[in-house]
Amino acid sequence: MTAAENFPPQRNPKVVVIGAGMTGVLMTIKLREAGITDVTILEKKDRLGGTWRENTYPGLACDIPAHMYTYSFEPNPNWSHRFAHGPEIQKYFEHVGRKYGVTDRISFNEAVTSSTYNDGKWTVTTSKGNTYIADFVINSTGILHHPAKPNIKGIESFEGKMFHTAEWDHSVSLKGKRVGIIGTGSTAAQAIPEVAKEAGHFSIFQRTAQWILPLGNKEFSEEFKQKLRDNPNRLRRLRSAYVWGLQHLMTKAVTGHQPQRALFSAACKLNLRFSIKDKVLRKKLTPDYAVGCKRIIINKTFYDAVQRDNVELVTDGITEITPKGIRTADGKEHELDVLILSTGFKPFNFMRPMDMRGKDGLHIDDAWSRKIQTYRSLFIPEFPNSFLMLGPNTPIGNYSVIAMSEVQCGYILKVIKRWQRGEFDAIEPKPEAVKAFNEYVKAGMANTVWVGGCKSWYLDDDGDPILWPYTWKQWEKEMEEPEMGDFITEKFPTKIAEATAA
Ligand code: NAP
Repeated sequence: MTAAENFPPQRNPKVVVIGAGMTGVLMTIKLREAGITDVTILEKKDRLGGTWRENTYPGLACDIPAHMYTYSFEPNPNWSHRFAHGPEIQKYFEHVGRKYGVTDRISFNEAVTSSTYNDGKWTVTTSKGNTYIADFVINSTGILHHPAKPNIKGIESFEGKMFHTAEWDHSVSLKGKRVGIIGTGSTAAQAIPEVAKEAGHFSIFQRTAQWILPLGNKEFSEEFKQKLRDNPNRLRRLRSAYVWGLQHLMTKAVTGHQPQRALFSAACKLNLRFSIKDKVLRKKLTPDYAVGCKRIIINKTFYDAVQRDNVELVTDGITEITPKGIRTADGKEHELDVLILSTGFKPFNFMRPMDMRGKDGLHIDDAWSRKIQTYRSLFIPEFPNSFLMLGPNTPIGNYSVIAMSEVQCGYILKVIKRWQRGEFDAIEPKPEAVKAFNEYVKAGMANTVWVGGCKSWYLDDDGDPILWPYTWKQWEKEMEEPEMGDFITEKFPTKIAEATAA
C-alpha cells in the first residue's frame, strides 16, 4: 500500500512548513507522499540546508557517521569520508531537495515574521508582506542557529577582525597572523586544527577542558564506494552497524548504562594520556567532570594541533578584550590580529524571535517565560495545530538528528491523518499530560551523565537537561502512536464545511 492510499483524501489540510533545513525538507517530502498537497515551505535565506548552509568554518564536518547521517529513504554510497565534511552534506541536501521536487516549491528569502492561532487556523505573515492561512504550522527552524556571543568586557573595543564560527568571514586571511579563538567545544575542536595550519601564532582560550574520543575520519576509496553502489544491501548493513553502535554504545553510555559509560570513559582518558606527552599541558586539558557530561567530541586532530609550536593553550580566565587582544587573569595581554568566537549558540530560542501567538493571543515568550516545556517535544501547550520539530527533550546528544526528525515526522503525520478524517479541527496537549511528560523526563535525568558536574548548553536555567534521558529504542516506541487521551481536541463545524468545499 502506498503512503497516499494510507491517507484517503477526506480533507486536504493547508500546511505551512517554516524552514528548509534538514527537517523542513524531510517534512515536505513526507507530507506530499502522504497525499497532502497544499504545503507552503518558507525559507528565510536563499538556499535550503539550514545549519549546513549557515556554517562554513574550516574543518566543518558532522561527527555522526555519514552513512547514518542520511535520510533513511535516500542512502548515499558516495560519501567521501566516514564523517562527511560540511560542503558535501550541503550538496546532499540540495540533491534530495531537487530529486524529491522540494526545492522548486520553497519560497526563498521569505522569513516568517508572525504566526497567530485562532479557532483551528494559523495566520502566518512574512517579510515579503504575504499572509498564509494554515490548518497546521510545522516549525522546522532548527536548534542551534542563534550564535551566542560572549558578554566580555571591552569586546566592542577590539580593533582587529572578529567573527563567530557560524558567521565565518572568508575575506579575512589567517596566513601568518596572530589569531585567537575563544571556546573549545565541538565546533572549535574541528576548526582549531585547520586554523593552526594557517596562523602565525594561535592562542586557544579554553575555559573548560573537553573529553575527546579519538575516531579518525577515514577517507573512502573509489573501490569501496563502487561496492556500495553495486550492493545496496552492503550499504544498508553499514548504516545498520553505525545505528547499532550509536544506540547500544553511545546513547546508552550517556543515559546511565554503566558498562558503556566505563568504555567511553576509558577511551577518552587513554586518548588524553597517550596523545599529550607534556604533563603540564595534559593537566590543563583534563576535564574535571564525567565523560559525556558535555557532548563528547569526536576528533583525532585536536590534540596534535594544540601541541604545535605555533599554538598556545591559554587557560587563565579572560578578564577583558582590549583594542589589541585579550587580557587574562594573570595580567598578560595576548595581542591578536584576528579573534574567532567559537562560543556556541542560544539553544532555547527555537523559532524565536518570530512573533508567535497561540490561544487567546498568548505570546510564545510569555508561554515560555518561566520554563521551556513541551509535550513529547513537538507540542507547545496552548499552541494548537502547531508542531516544533527537534524541540526540547528530543534525544539529542551524539545521535543523528535526521533519525529523530524521521520519527517525529511519522508522529505528526498520524496526528494530521486524524484531522483529515474529521476527528477534530484543533488539537493540543492537556495540561496534565504536559506536566506528566515533563515529570517523567525529569525523573530519568538523575541517571544520566549530563548532570555529572559540568555546565553545558544541554542544561536549562534550573539545571534540567533538555535531552531525552532514556534509550533511543524507548523513545522510538513511545513516539509510535499519539496517545489521544493526552490531548484536548476541538471541532469547529464551519471549518469542516469550508475545508471540504475547498
Ligand atoms: P559549545 O559546545 O556550546 O561550546 C562553546 C565553547 O565556548 C565552550 O568551550 C565554552 O566554554 C566557550 N565559551 C562560551 N562563552 C565563553 C566565554 N564568555 N568565555 C570563555 N569561553 C566561553 O558550542 P559549539 O562548539 O559551537 O557546539 C555546540 C553544539 O553544536 C554541539 O554540542 C553540537 O551539538 C553541535 N555541533 C555539532 C557538530 C557535529 O559534528 N555534529 C559540530 C559542531 C557543533 P565552557 O565549556 O566553559 O562553557
